[in-house]
Amino acid sequence: MKLKISSRSAQRALFAVGALFLAVGVSLAQGNLPVQWEDLTGPDFVTAIHKAQNTCLLPIGILEKHGPHLPIGTDLFNARYVAVHAAERDYSVVFPAYYFGQIFEARHQPGTVAYSAHMQLDLLQETADEMARNGCRKILIVNGHGGNNHLLPYFAQIQLASPHDYVIYVLPLPKRVPVKDKVDAHAGESETSLTMVTHPDLVHLDRARSESGADLNRLRLPEGLYTGIWWYAKFPNHYAGEGFLATKALGEADLKNWIDEAVAAIRAVKADQESLKLQKEFYQKAAHPLDTPQ
Ligand SMILES: [Zn+2]
Repeated sequence: MKLKISSRSAQRALFAVGALFLAVGVSLAQGNLPVQWEDLTGPDFVTAIHKAQNTCLLPIGILEKHGPHLPIGTDLFNARYVAVHAAERDYSVVFPAYYFGQIFEARHQPGTVAYSAHMQLDLLQETADEMARNGCRKILIVNGHGGNNHLLPYFAQIQLASPHDYVIYVLPLPKRVPVKDKVDAHAGESETSLTMVTHPDLVHLDRARSESGADLNRLRLPEGLYTGIWWYAKFPNHYAGEGFLATKALGEADLKNWIDEAVAAIRAVKADQESLKLQKEFYQKAAHPLDTPQ
């Protein structure tokens, strides 16, 4: 909490009425609006959307095993940590916990919740529609899960199929600080380090060697030739890397980069005056393609 007190007399007056007044004063101050959607009151929500310049964040994770040592909710925990810290630096409203992405490749592991493909898209669309109905004209999806790397740009692309009065932006997973772990793809050195900072009580570093996160590389296909079983072929334990190498210092460095990237994205989204305009023009032209000058 931050409280600015301009003069000594004001300070004295404030201290005189005691702690209760202070608490009320702080809660009423606009500067202390919470960033999380579910923490706002109804009246404060209106103020928050205006203060955010209609910009809202939708951090997306998943429910999946993260090696033998990290919690099933890891991806959402870390994406939300980043989104909330970024939104506090450049005010925006953060949508509540959203676990509903693409994770068919971990259906053989305990705790995975894998919704059907149409449900993933329908739920995302209805969530975005409802966010927009509540004033979020610019929705920045903050991805926390590698299995969503194709889904989210595809979701942004299919917004062109029918008119929407809002814009979807996707912030991909961040560039990572180089590490010792040569695989480092899932529950490895980087992700374990991040979680050591965001949720230290849920990291069990002593268990990180109890399964192998080595790349079994069981397919013999040329690079770039894609098939859905590729991940299972490499990492059947749903563990990719060496989580035991993790350190809190690496997690702090990675988080700083990720939060900086998210803040830069929020600023770019707020400054973007073109996307909504061009979308509108596109939807109008798409209704009458024969009228488009050739
Ligand atoms: Zn993960």
